[in-house]
Amino acid sequence: MRKPFVAGNWKMNTDSHTSVSLAEAVASGSSDIAEQVHIAVIPPFVYIPAVVKAVSNARIAVGAQDVYYEQKGAFTGEISSSMLKDIGCTYALCGHSERRHVIGETDELVNKKVGAAISGGLLPILCVGELIEQRKASQTEQVVTKQIKNGLQGLSAGKVSAVTIAYEPVWAIGTGLTATPQQAQEVHALIRKLIGEMYDSQLAGEIRILYGGSVKPSNAAELMAQADIDGLLVGGASLKADDFVSIIQAAA
Ligand code: PEP
Repeated sequence: MRKPFVAGNWKMNTDSHTSVSLAEAVASGSSDIAEQVHIAVIPPFVYIPAVVKAVSNARIAVGAQDVYYEQKGAFTGEISSSMLKDIGCTYALCGHSERRHVIGETDELVNKKVGAAISGGLLPILCVGELIEQRKASQTEQVVTKQIKNGLQGLSAGKVSAVTIAYEPVWAIGTGLTATPQQAQEVHALIRKLIGEMYDSQLAGEIRILYGGSVKPSNAAELMAQADIDGLLVGGASLKADDFVSIIQAAA
């Protein structure tokens, strides 16, 4: 039985004051349903310690928006999984669409990050998804399959059991356009089948697959009603505590 999982990616938003007030508002708003759903907030790196403190009495995990693949050394500006673990992080996004398409991260880099996140004791959230041109050219299956095969390259089933996959069609992120529940379910089912082929049916049945892309209180329930959608990765709507709590309620 896969427990629903809702994560809020704050991207490069909030400040030292609003990161804490948002975290506190999510904690108090979700306290009565937090046993039924895994909840994570993913603030900018610099606010992680304050947010960890703000949710320390709540059933809310904290994640990082990225992680580097080495553990320490001369890598100016980078942050390792062991450092993130040390300050109280549980999750790390790997290969978020904005890192792939704005910063230029490749599947190979994302694969190293997924492996390093696991080695450092974090639970990676591997993000995949197609561009609009790729969907229009009927390449969604091919693109997502490649991103997953490359992203998990060399990782054993034991390691992949720590991974959550987030299917986030690039054309739906921050655009207000959401995949229909049927479009999302189709890709989620494909991903689960692929995990079964790459590993085994037990892992395929257990791995959590989140949908992300303009999730809002008004569409969360119909997305969560799909058989292979186990949770939601929420960007914009996670910056408003009331909206994010409504989405958590829909998932619970
Ligand atoms: C995201 O940042 O992963 C995301 C899905 O953003 P939004 O919900 O704003 O589309």
